[in-house]
Amino acid sequence: MNLLPVSPVVAIVERCQALFDDLDFNAVKQWKEAAPGRKAIGYMPVYVPRELIHAAGMLPVGILGGGDALEVIQGDAYYQSYICRIPRSTLELGLTGRLNCLDGMLFPSICDVIRNLSGMWQILFKDKFVRYFDVPQNYVDSIGGTFYIQELQSLREDLGKLRGAPVTDAELNASIALYNENRTAVRDLYAYRAAKPWQAPTSEVYLLLRAGMVLPPEEHTQLLREYLAATDSVARPKRDNARVVINGSFCEQPPLSLIKSIEMSGCYIVDDDFMLVTRWLLDEVPANANPLEELSKAFLHRSATSAAKYDQTREEKGMFLVGQVKTRGAEGVIFAAPSFCDPALLERPMLQDVLSKHNIPHTAFKFAENTGQMAPIREQSGTFADSIKLWSAA
Ligand code: SF4
Repeated sequence: MNLLPVSPVVAIVERCQALFDDLDFNAVKQWKEAAPGRKAIGYMPVYVPRELIHAAGMLPVGILGGGDALEVIQGDAYYQSYICRIPRSTLELGLTGRLNCLDGMLFPSICDVIRNLSGMWQILFKDKFVRYFDVPQNYVDSIGGTFYIQELQSLREDLGKLRGAPVTDAELNASIALYNENRTAVRDLYAYRAAKPWQAPTSEVYLLLRAGMVLPPEEHTQLLREYLAATDSVARPKRDNARVVINGSFCEQPPLSLIKSIEMSGCYIVDDDFMLVTRWLLDEVPANANPLEELSKAFLHRSATSAAKYDQTREEKGMFLVGQVKTRGAEGVIFAAPSFCDPALLERPMLQDVLSKHNIPHTAFKFAENTGQMAPIREQSGTFADSIKLWSAA
């Protein structure tokens, strides 16, 4: 039997899909088994300074819930029904032993649900390192910066104790340099997709980002580079789709079939807020200075915006999203937020107001990570795309 060779793009996407499907985190187990004493630390959305974990010689592992393949049984007992699904499916992953390969978990300050989850984790998994990681809501270096550097230092000391040796500045700067490369590769991928969305569908871009949740940064950067080279070498069909930005999916993740449905309905996704940890810091962090100070300055002054981050003034609200629309040449915004997500759904009316003032079309729906019925979403995003094509043209 003659087997056709698999194209490099297909091979890369299949590898990412396998990593995405693996709820037992075998890639993490294999990384740990490759050398004695290795440790892995899980983290939840939206942002943690992965450089600190990496500098301690550990693998940062992004935990984004159980998706649509995991049946939540035990996790439902810990939360009321009118709560988003990601904390319940994350508990399910923990209670079923799927996260046993992790030596610790970081819970960033996204919302009250995640704060409560960090407390539950401390009670349920007493033998693990568990930390609630707070970030500043004040962006003055002498106030929020001082607080944040203390938080970073405290986390650094915890990780140093966990591995049995302090984390040095040199180690931190080396990790900052590695993550700078990774952020550059992700930025390049996003710029490429915005320029040629038919060459880099978001269903593929999304899987590539998900791979970065379990792979070491060096390996992930190489994978992104290989994908960009491979997909650019093969012409794919270009369609007359509407260019849209997705907003609201920064924590609980939409099912992959939802992303595919939006694309199939006639939309090119040219920007989004999936896995913001990969591009939270918007430019290079200097890797030859005081590492904690530089990480702090990058967070305070040069970081992305989401509903989980405080806007200092009313005037700033929505301007990051408007900037995404304008710089990516988008024609509209699809608000796709998880059901019961307080940060995303409370911010949405304010963002909609700003978009309307800028004459940017928008539509909105909600999802859960296990949403199965895609027909209504396909109809809504398809109608939105048609309306842009028919009535928004200048
Ligand atoms: S989906 Fe929204 S409400 Fe739920 S944990 Fe995430 S940020 Fe909090």
